[in-house]
Amino acid sequence: MFAVPIKINMTKNILLSICFLAISMSTINAAPSMQADNRFNDFKESFVLELWKVYPSWASSVGYHKYDQVLTVPDDAERARELAFCRKNLDGLKGFSLSELSDVNKTDYYLIENQLKYTEWGINEQKSYEWDPSGYNVCGSFADMLGNDYEALDRRLLHFYARMASIPAYYAAAKKNIKNPTKEHTKLAIEQNLGGISVFETDLPEALKKSHLDESQKDKILHRAKVSVAVIKNYADWLKAMPNDNPRSFRLGKELYEKKFAYEIQSGYTADEIYEKALKHKIELHGKMYAITKELWPKYCAGKPMPEKRMEAVKAMIDVLSVNHVKPDSFQAAIERQLPALVAFIKNKNLIYIDPSKPLVVRKEPDYMAGVAGASINAPGPYDKNGNTYYNVGGLAGWDKDKAESYLREYNHYILQILNIHEAIPGHYTQLVYANQSPSIIKAVLGNNAMIEGWAVYTERMMLENGYDGDRGVNSTEASPEMWLMYYKWNLRSTCNTILDYSVHTKNMSKADAMHLLVDEAFQQKAEAEGKWKRVSVTQVQLCCYFTGYTEIYDFRETLKNKMGPKFNLKQFHEKFLGYGSAPVKYIRQLMTAER
Ligand code: ZN
Ligand code: ZN
Repeated sequence: MFAVPIKINMTKNILLSICFLAISMSTINAAPSMQADNRFNDFKESFVLELWKVYPSWASSVGYHKYDQVLTVPDDAERARELAFCRKNLDGLKGFSLSELSDVNKTDYYLIENQLKYTEWGINEQKSYEWDPSGYNVCGSFADMLGNDYEALDRRLLHFYARMASIPAYYAAAKKNIKNPTKEHTKLAIEQNLGGISVFETDLPEALKKSHLDESQKDKILHRAKVSVAVIKNYADWLKAMPNDNPRSFRLGKELYEKKFAYEIQSGYTADEIYEKALKHKIELHGKMYAITKELWPKYCAGKPMPEKRMEAVKAMIDVLSVNHVKPDSFQAAIERQLPALVAFIKNKNLIYIDPSKPLVVRKEPDYMAGVAGASINAPGPYDKNGNTYYNVGGLAGWDKDKAESYLREYNHYILQILNIHEAIPGHYTQLVYANQSPSIIKAVLGNNAMIEGWAVYTERMMLENGYDGDRGVNSTEASPEMWLMYYKWNLRSTCNTILDYSVHTKNMSKADAMHLLVDEAFQQKAEAEGKWKRVSVTQVQLCCYFTGYTEIYDFRETLKNKMGPKFNLKQFHEKFLGYGSAPVKYIRQLMTAER
């Protein structure tokens, strides 16, 4: 298997590794064989079926409902089963030679291998089942059974009932697992478990009223729901009362962090390298923002003295520009209007082919998502191929005036355009359309988040570099300085998220230093920064996926451009890149480089 030396080489020296790659691929690479691919397709199929058996809740969440009535109890026996599953399938992978597989299957191979090794590492090394009590929470998966209309309500309710039977054993196992938990995850576990109880106390009785089950069935279900609620409350009380004089730190520590980063992001760079790149990028962004601020100051603030401190001047300019925003009731209309303009610009500039037969449906966010402001893409799951893809836009109805104003300033005239690029075209939505052209259940389930988010972040810069500016039309060759300043502010967010995550988990960054980074250097509102601190104290690595994926794609493109000179074609690069589906960027890079 030649994957190992490539991986090591990639992390050390990018330029060298490309030469190395080209040689190793041409000498070792045998032609893909149909027979090997057929065998691998069979392997994938049985792998996925077994995956759902081992992880029934995960199965339900992606729309595979065969095991809805099963709730696995997270005890020693269960972990042993998971490890056996990993061993068996890692052995199964050894039966294939990567060089015989098609590109789709090569990348699927890497994703499966990574997932299995990540699971083994999680159980044997990270052991969050001992220190993260928020990992135990059944409420969300039960809520899904009531909230999603995938089969007849009566049937869903009977599965709901069967599934509740394991709740007492589930929380008993949780209590047995937990040792020396962090204070932050303990607090979160109490909040989230108590918050989720309404599924059993409110949503379930309402659903029962709408069902056709007979009264004795309904009674049985309600009785078991009462038991479940008592068990969940007992878990919360147990956590509150637990003596925990010497709690584990929520900071993951360098050793675990580096491994988690490698499994989660699957980057060609190490966590260290990405951190260094983010630090450098932050300084570059600040320099560019200050230059634009000086340029725009006379236009917007004539006669007023510019603050002496550079970051204060930038902040003042951002505040002035943020006042340019849509009215609360035209938020959705503004988004809808921009999508055809984005498509027209992309076509005019030859940036990437956009399939006209797959329009995106913009809608007001459905009730069950209400409260989560902003916009998001809602794609059908792998088992619901005919479902629509929606662009959910949060409404501001019912918001108080100050909150709405602050939100609209955040998503002002400029940022709203960048948000549309990121979420829709040519960001997430376009990537999804391409990914669906070579359908892979493995990528639908195990797809690489850093590639997915990285692509969306990459397209923001790519569009502006090509002159996109909603105020300047399809022939625009240069985005306005206002647009660039706001883009840099937006880009600072993912850059500083990476710095924050790495610093907090491996360098003991204090909360005061974190707030300084987010508020003074990334121009975030205090409330947003507080929320970010809360998030970084209960998650690890996740916050790095945007910047890492973006950096890898951008670096790859620039390297290729330099190498190919006038032969480089941006449209071809984009289409080829997306053609591999949601695979880690480092593998797409390998495959694309090998082909040339
Ligand atoms: Zn306003
Ligand atoms: Zn995104």
